[in-house]
Amino acid sequence: MRLMRMILVGPPGAGKGTQAARLVETYKIPHISSGDMLRAAVKEGTNLGKEADTFMKAGKLVPDDVVIGMILERVAKPDCANGFMLDGFPRTRPQAEALDTAMTKANVKLDAVVLIEVPDQLLEERACGRRSDPETGLIYHLKYNPPPPEIAERLVHRKDDTVEAVTTRVQKYHSETEPIVPYYQNKGILERVDGVGDPDEITKRITAVLKS
Ligand code: AMP
Repeated sequence: MRLMRMILVGPPGAGKGTQAARLVETYKIPHISSGDMLRAAVKEGTNLGKEADTFMKAGKLVPDDVVIGMILERVAKPDCANGFMLDGFPRTRPQAEALDTAMTKANVKLDAVVLIEVPDQLLEERACGRRSDPETGLIYHLKYNPPPPEIAERLVHRKDDTVEAVTTRVQKYHSETEPIVPYYQNKGILERVDGVGDPDEITKRITAVLKS
């Protein structure tokens, strides 16, 4: 399998986490989710977690300097030497530029940025019905991908998967994150994928654009 350094971009509820979990199996690269890392920091009660918590609960973005430091430290680890999949980072233009600077310094290049496109009107239902299994890391949806009843008790409903927080997150996606789309398009590494449909079908669409 070819070495792969890639980014998954998309609005909240687009299926980035679901697709990333599948793709890292294929490409054998670490899955680096800024949201998962921040949630772990909140749970552990670290200084970084304390700083991030209020922003996250409200569906707002955590300040750039906090997230940039955390991710650059992570991608510098030895397991990322042969590639990585970033999920949820970069989410702002300064984050994209900081990643570029660090990669240029390390003399490595991004291979692809995959944009998973899902219309706004589908996002609220997708995010609010989401439940994750802390034991397996699998993501379910109460209606579209119902979890087995025996694990129902342990499932987690994220604090920011509420109508109010999702509305803010979608707004922030359009105002803060969408500007990174033309940024990567100008570099010639942006791939757009339709994120509406069956998750297996979407995985196929992504692997097809990555092969091309
Ligand atoms: P996610 O799991 O990717 O949906 O992220 C959950 C929340 O974590 C976001 O709503 C933000 O509050 C925060 N977050 C995750 N990644 C970033 C990032 N790259 N920049 C700023 N905030 C982030």
